[in-house]
Amino acid sequence: MRLSLLLPPVQPEVYPVVAGCPYAGCGGRHVQHWQAVPKPLRDTQFAEVVAHRYRCVRCGRTFRVYPRGVGHDQTSARLKGVATMFYVLGMSYGAVAIALSALGWPLSKVAVYYAVQEAGAAVAGLRREAVQRGGGRVAGLGVDLTSVRCAGQWLTVGIGVDAVRGTVLSLDLLPNGEAATLTAWVQDLASVLGATLLVSDDADSFKLAADANGMDQQVCKAHVGRNTDAWVEAMAPDVVADADGSLASIGVAPAQAVADIHELRRLMSERQPSEEASAALATIHHRYLSAAKPAKGEAMSLAYRLRLFSLDRWNLWPRLTRYRTWEGPDGEALDGTNNACERAIGWWVKERYRSMRGYKRPESVLHVSRLIAAMGNALDGPGFALAEVIA
Ligand SMILES: [Zn+2]
Repeated sequence: MRLSLLLPPVQPEVYPVVAGCPYAGCGGRHVQHWQAVPKPLRDTQFAEVVAHRYRCVRCGRTFRVYPRGVGHDQTSARLKGVATMFYVLGMSYGAVAIALSALGWPLSKVAVYYAVQEAGAAVAGLRREAVQRGGGRVAGLGVDLTSVRCAGQWLTVGIGVDAVRGTVLSLDLLPNGEAATLTAWVQDLASVLGATLLVSDDADSFKLAADANGMDQQVCKAHVGRNTDAWVEAMAPDVVADADGSLASIGVAPAQAVADIHELRRLMSERQPSEEASAALATIHHRYLSAAKPAKGEAMSLAYRLRLFSLDRWNLWPRLTRYRTWEGPDGEALDGTNNACERAIGWWVKERYRSMRGYKRPESVLHVSRLIAAMGNALDGPGFALAEVIA
């Protein structure tokens, strides 16, 4: 894994073509060169460049034109790029200011902050870019939620990835993690991307979002494997002993129940999309159908818990085994996990966040995470051109 960051160049001899009067409402096509004026610059190489002043023949107003990598303010795009790079690589805003000063390119902490935020705000095209790279279509959309602390509150961040390629497509602040919110968010992403399959963990809200949007779903096999294992481990001692006598009351021997929970675990870990497997799940569930629902305020019996769990796994089955037969329009395959999302959250949202005491503005959460994710998408490629996000 290799990341190259390409700094915006400063080219003192290269000026944009002057196409006419820049003032709104004038429309004058003819301009005269008025004068060349020196412009002091904060940059890693040049202390000064030349700005050209032009005068509009029609309205008489003047305007300035700067060389490539230089704008109205005194800091070059290249120095803003260095500041942004240092920040993304893990330094705080204050630390970046100290480092730049030591290198002889002083920039205030506030100026560093604005450089980073502006670059982050410019990454809005992340989604569009990733879609273009994928030939205009993302068949499988992976989604997950995480939370970050901001000004004393926890914010919900939704992350969307190309489930096949692993690139980050979208990072969004969501008002909450409820099914209605996720449904609208998934719908927006899926329609932009043309995705027909949703990959997620086994949260019910994502199942509802997939169904409401008419999408097929793959529930992460690793999540299901882990929580099936945990359930079996926790239940086994009580099942062996028929601890509350509820198995006896529905006529199931403890040995049969023990065999059932281990069969459930085997089916969940092998995930063979066969008729036999599906029929086995049905058989297990039917054995516990007569277990009574607890009265209000009473605890669930062992038999009833088996009834619920076997139903849940049976219902989950098509979503758990989807990846075995799914194929994208260009023959893409899935691995059945939501690892691409988890990796993206770990690397692009949480890793940078660890060294901070929390964000102060919700916009910062998005700007910084999107910026880091955009760079992450450029891993092993030709490099991330900071000039694309620095004016
Ligand atoms: Zn004019």
